Amino acid sequence: MRILITGGCGFLGSNMVKKILKETNDTIYVIDNLSTSNKENIEAYLGKKVNFIEMDICDNKIINVINELDIDEIYNFACPASPKYYLDHPIETWEASVIGIKNLLDSIKGTKRKLFHSSTSEVYGDALESPQNEEYWGNVNPIGVRSCYDEGKRAAESLIYDYIRKYDVDVRVARLFNTYGPGMSTEDGRIISNFITQGLNNEPITIYGSGKQTRSFCFVDDTIDAIYKYMNLAKKSNGPINIGNPQEKTIEEVAVYIKNLLSTKSSIVYMAKMSDDPQRRKPNIAKAKGLLDWIPQVSYEEGIKQTIKYFKSKINAKK
Ligand code: UDP
Repeated sequence: MRILITGGCGFLGSNMVKKILKETNDTIYVIDNLSTSNKENIEAYLGKKVNFIEMDICDNKIINVINELDIDEIYNFACPASPKYYLDHPIETWEASVIGIKNLLDSIKGTKRKLFHSSTSEVYGDALESPQNEEYWGNVNPIGVRSCYDEGKRAAESLIYDYIRKYDVDVRVARLFNTYGPGMSTEDGRIISNFITQGLNNEPITIYGSGKQTRSFCFVDDTIDAIYKYMNLAKKSNGPINIGNPQEKTIEEVAVYIKNLLSTKSSIVYMAKMSDDPQRRKPNIAKAKGLLDWIPQVSYEEGIKQTIKYFKSKINAKK
């Protein structure tokens, strides 16, 4: 088969490249505009089986490229996903979410191509229910600073389900909750990347707001396993399904845990809360469990250990 991974140089995309190489003999094409990702993430795999094309998914020439390469399956990860990046690039984020998915949908319309689409827990916004299940419609500020991402991803879902109803296309939508692990950029500004990098550099560990807000963290191998299983379900299944690890932690707990584990001299400092920051985030994964026969395997303790090892190697390589 010929597989296309859009955003394949990013954190999840590059981990998907590795997974497909491990599981199959398929030929992989990576399309990425390298705006928030790094080609280094796939450099070691480039060759006959992994090919790289620098291109923006918003460019509608991508439809011709997909047709010419006769792609069988598309995994779409192309979008800035870290708040630090999307707050800095709101318009590009909205475009990648909405125009990007429109191009991919047009490329599969009238074909047997399968498309996996990475949606996000951000579609639930600052949720008024916890845990969040797929039936919850969310609580999103439509004009806030996060809305480029939240509403962009909601609009993408809306468009996908219209294409499904109108053209019966095969799209598998997953709402991905916080994922961490090797392949993350040390500079993406996310909580795990920031806290580990700050700790390793003996710099203050920065909590935004009270630190009482929560997230639930899924190790990247578990997220990727679930996505792979979902794409390979014999029976068409549109979802959307939540993929994540329901182990919920407060931001303060994460700061203290990482600080102690690193035995760092870093202090913990409290800074201004981020605008519209979701206060409780925890997935209900019953649907994914039932459909995929999957549950997360890697504990938070083991996952953080592996991530620290990866970040140490990245930071040392820079010195
Ligand atoms: N956060 C923090 N300090 C940091 C980075 C993030 O306190 O240095 C908080 C952030 O305000 C949010 C949570 O950690 O409440 C998760 O943020 P992240 O950027 O990882 O992603 P999000 O889940 O918001 O998309």
